[in-house]
Amino acid sequence: MLRLKENILETAEYGSCIFFLKRNIFYTLFSLFKFVHFYQMSGLPNLGNTCYINSILQCLRYQRHFVKLLKKYNSEKDSKFHQHFIDLMFDGHTEQSIKDFVFHLSKENQEFKLFKQCDAHELFLFLIDHFYEYHDMHNPFKGTIESKIFCDCGYESLSKQDFISLSVNVKESIDEMLDDYQRVEEIDIKCKCSKTLKKQMTIINRPSIMVVHLKRFTSSNRKIDTEILLDETRSYKMTAICNHSGQTQGGHYTAAVLRGHGGWWMCNDIHTQELAQLPEKSYLPYILFFEKYKRKFSDIK
Ligand SMILES: [Zn+2]
Repeated sequence: MLRLKENILETAEYGSCIFFLKRNIFYTLFSLFKFVHFYQMSGLPNLGNTCYINSILQCLRYQRHFVKLLKKYNSEKDSKFHQHFIDLMFDGHTEQSIKDFVFHLSKENQEFKLFKQCDAHELFLFLIDHFYEYHDMHNPFKGTIESKIFCDCGYESLSKQDFISLSVNVKESIDEMLDDYQRVEEIDIKCKCSKTLKKQMTIINRPSIMVVHLKRFTSSNRKIDTEILLDETRSYKMTAICNHSGQTQGGHYTAAVLRGHGGWWMCNDIHTQELAQLPEKSYLPYILFFEKYKRKFSDIK
């Protein structure tokens, strides 16, 4: 049976009394019950090293450009894995939903086998790539970068590549990280003219949801604990943060998410708590989720 999918994000939009009064009394009481229920945001149980899964699922649930596209989608013909994934994006899922999802995830990809602590960014890439491989829908995470290899002699080679997340070096602010990502760098290849070639990446198509992955783990298995400023970027608003605490081995993942009514919540597996505000700086963020600002015509100068 097709279930009415309600995402927590949109609950606040239903908040007007006038709206409620127009509906019959049962629907009003039902909505009120749901509103109270939603306000107590639902956490996800840890089934044994599954904090990385919970953290990514919570971040994805608050990406409205992603969730809205799934709202009217009928997943009956999907694989069990995708059915559970879609179910978890909406309210009404049970503890069994997350158990089934974790089980099917481990069957789909051995990398995410049960009880193994995995990398949350690897999981994000797998979930989104795999989902859009099987669903012919607009992918709001997809952007395009242009890679230019060039030389002072005039040689130039251009190529384009789609991305669903940007892996950046850890800097103090988001804008610095994005600038660093697009800076000109020398590469270890010589041009025909014998000078060293240079490379520059440019984001030419910005996605509706931009996911920025901080390269906190070095190839020598060390973690970079630099604090970053939790500010907005030039054209994006922050909507979720996947946090990592601890070192490379045995760390813990949590998520901070921006809910529809504007408040930030911390999700630590089954425990959820409203935050008075986001801290100005933090050394925890590992993956940041941003939503493109919708500019009004009057905002453009
Ligand atoms: Zn050259």
